Amino acid sequence: MTANPTGLALGVDVGGTKIFGVVVDDQQRILNELRIPTVQGGMRDWGEAVTEEIAVVIHSLHHEAGLAIGSLPICVGVPGMVDAAGTLIYAPNLQSATQAPMLTQLQRQFPDVAIRIENDANCAAYCEFRAGAGRGHDDMTMITLGTGIGGGIIAGGRPFRGGRGFAGEFGHMVMDPKGPHCPCGASGCWERYVSGSAVERMTAEALIQGRLDTIVAQRANKSVALTGEEVSAAALAGNREARALLEPMASWLARGIAVLATVLDPTCVVIGGGLTDVMKLFLPEVRDLLPTLLEGGVLHPGIDVVPAFFGESAGAIGASMLAREEG
Ligand SMILES: [Zn+2]
Repeated sequence: MTANPTGLALGVDVGGTKIFGVVVDDQQRILNELRIPTVQGGMRDWGEAVTEEIAVVIHSLHHEAGLAIGSLPICVGVPGMVDAAGTLIYAPNLQSATQAPMLTQLQRQFPDVAIRIENDANCAAYCEFRAGAGRGHDDMTMITLGTGIGGGIIAGGRPFRGGRGFAGEFGHMVMDPKGPHCPCGASGCWERYVSGSAVERMTAEALIQGRLDTIVAQRANKSVALTGEEVSAAALAGNREARALLEPMASWLARGIAVLATVLDPTCVVIGGGLTDVMKLFLPEVRDLLPTLLEGGVLHPGIDVVPAFFGESAGAIGASMLAREEG
């Protein structure tokens, strides 16, 4: 076992479907990586079960790299509201993982190891700010479009976490109180209109209305319902019905960014998450719309809206960077 190699750090990104862990050097190169499926099911102790899995990833990555436990600083990004004690208070899309004392549980297994628990979008934002699409922008906002919307804020060159660690929960800004119901309990949250679950909802509605007939006709397997992922892939392949269905996401994205701009005044907004590729189709429209929505109109100097550079590894790499730089 090698002891304390300089510059290496371990980052873990916990998602609803997989847990992705990496050992990263100080040039953001991934030296080792491991993906395991996230334990499923709405059991009461889901948070504890997931934390158990995170511990397995931490052990395995050390073992594969030939490093002793304790030689790497560790940061774990999780998809929800994390308090300063490292407890996952609430995860809107993983509702059985409330009040999970993840840091306490990990420290029991790894005493005297530097571990922190962060919101996953904060990790991704930090990665893009330090080394990716938001480089050079000390006031940057990251919007991750996955199952829901994650938000990360860089303010004055530092991650901004708020008074309790809950800042950046943009997905649950209510855009229309009469809108679709959200798993968080409110209605018309921003992520109901632009996210993976929004694509699923629009797909289900369009199927009933017969608005996706060309895609349905082309499918080999007609016994299972068309998924939002298939519609996104069809839009990327140039299918007009799919593109037309998803197009309203452009104006919803622009409207949300304009609201955020009134509070955060970013010079750059980075769009990341699993929907990045499909949203790239609509970024020209978002950029056209934004000046008409920003306070000040033509007098506003504008905001760069750019796709993320790091793709799906941003959360895990950003976690490793926070582990290394914030300890
Ligand atoms: Zn909500």
